[in-house]
Amino acid sequence: MRIVIALGGNALGNTLTEQMTAVKYTASAIADLIEQGHEVIVSHGNGPQVGMIHHAVNELTHVVEQDFPVIPLSVCVAMSQSYIGYDLQNALREELLNRSIHKPCATVITQVVVDPDDPAFKNPSKPIGRFMSEEEAKKLAEEKGYQIIEDSGRGWRRVVASPKPKAIVEIETVKALLQAGQVVIAGGGGGIPVTAHGNHLKGTSAVIDKDFCSCLMAELVDADLLIILTAVEKCAINFGKPNQKWLDNITADEAKEYCKQGHFAAGSMLPKVEAAIKFAESSKGRKSLITLLEKAKDGIEGKTGTIVYNP
Ligand code: ADP
Ligand code: MG
Repeated sequence: MRIVIALGGNALGNTLTEQMTAVKYTASAIADLIEQGHEVIVSHGNGPQVGMIHHAVNELTHVVEQDFPVIPLSVCVAMSQSYIGYDLQNALREELLNRSIHKPCATVITQVVVDPDDPAFKNPSKPIGRFMSEEEAKKLAEEKGYQIIEDSGRGWRRVVASPKPKAIVEIETVKALLQAGQVVIAGGGGGIPVTAHGNHLKGTSAVIDKDFCSCLMAELVDADLLIILTAVEKCAINFGKPNQKWLDNITADEAKEYCKQGHFAAGSMLPKVEAAIKFAESSKGRKSLITLLEKAKDGIEGKTGTIVYNP
């Protein structure tokens, strides 16, 4: 099978040292699938990493060197893709070599086109970067035109839009690498959001949900399976309540109904289930699996996880 694997935050850890350790374990789970003969494309989240990079470059502009030019969020996402790709491709390379599998692994810096008229731009919802005092946040909003919100009693933060991915600029590169039998890491952090102006691509201050980007990538490379690996073995209805029920095999229509009933939290499980539905419905025979990293192998064999399919 051709499989797109979307790695959640727990596959990469929160700090430099955590990531070094986490990628070893993650690489071993991915190598299991490669060893079984599957073609694998890996995508991943970047929340803590892009947060760290953004914080560092902000300190540089605001504290260390007042005149240092502002480093845009799109550049921070590019940095996070290369930093995570560096660790991940090395861990995979080593794990595969230890199993005597000779397959090159490469990270593709991936840009994702968004629609400048996407309604998300009118309603920025994704908090990013450091917490500020109300005064500092309002000053920044005035100076730079940033949108700001009060984030759940913890202080003020900048918010950016989370538009839907429309196209993946480097998709032909991803396909060519797959064709050559290579393991590809692409679409990290949901991709670098860009808008197209003729032949020119312009980075935009936005964050694309990595689950939606992985779904689009899976459609474009004509994958058989989209695996979304996260911190729970299965999705549940009535999550965290006494009548909680784990879901095994569900149809896309059943999943839609559960979404409507509000069973999946916005910003965490909801985008995963929506991505799972979209991929399952995109063509005949495609299905999606949501499970834990260490259960990926069992999930493919139908032993665990939540599978969304279109009968
Ligand atoms: P990731 O980094 O993998 O994207 P998220 O934290 O964004 O992880 O989303 C996964 C989390 O969603 C789970 O750890 C779980 O706590 C939460 N969650 C919310 N609603 C549900 C649900 N209905 N079933 C299972 N998990 C849910
Ligand atoms: Mg998430």
